Amino acid sequence: MEKALYPSKVMRISQGYNEGSHLDSFAIDEASSDTSKSPIYAPFTGVIKKIYVEDANEVWLESVDKVLYADGTIDYMTVLFAHADSIDGLFVGKKIMQKEAFYSEGVKGEATGNHCHIECGRGKFTENGWYKNKSGYWSINNGKKPEECFFLGSDVTVIDNYGYNFKREEIEVLEPEDTKEEVKEEAKEDKTPKLIFTSLKTDLYGIYLKEGEELYLK
Ligand SMILES: [Zn+2]
Repeated sequence: MEKALYPSKVMRISQGYNEGSHLDSFAIDEASSDTSKSPIYAPFTGVIKKIYVEDANEVWLESVDKVLYADGTIDYMTVLFAHADSIDGLFVGKKIMQKEAFYSEGVKGEATGNHCHIECGRGKFTENGWYKNKSGYWSINNGKKPEECFFLGSDVTVIDNYGYNFKREEIEVLEPEDTKEEVKEEAKEDKTPKLIFTSLKTDLYGIYLKEGEELYLK
């Protein structure tokens, strides 16, 4: 099962949720490392369910399967991205692979400075994908806090997490096998007599021993 991953390689959140234009929503703005239009990577393998060009080139990406959320939830996830200046090549029904750079920061839709507006919703895309919240802002359906949804991949640099406690994706570290083997072999040498010679028939044998070698007779 895929883990939902934070969609930027650099985290520099410039606006948090439930403030300013994000009142009554769990939207965040990701501005990344500099003022350029940084790429935005698909948090999971998904399908584009809606594109809204009249405003900020909003794109809704719905996971093709259930994904693991950072808070342990297992469910479908739908994420809304906004402000890319160009959405050339994107269309409803297009499948996007996890970690694919498919979207980018921008200023489309009255944005100040290049950034990407990101909103997570639990479950599949529903109805229109968003609703007008009580502060008058359009918000994704079933909105959920981003730090409860996204893991930070090991390749993500954090400049500003806005005080949100994002969890790192845990990478399984395997114990190096060779170290274990060495220990085992040493132990064997200490305790088990080494068989040096097996006589093929009844006879007299001369055996050459190396320095320190001991001969055991069986
Ligand atoms: Zn925003």
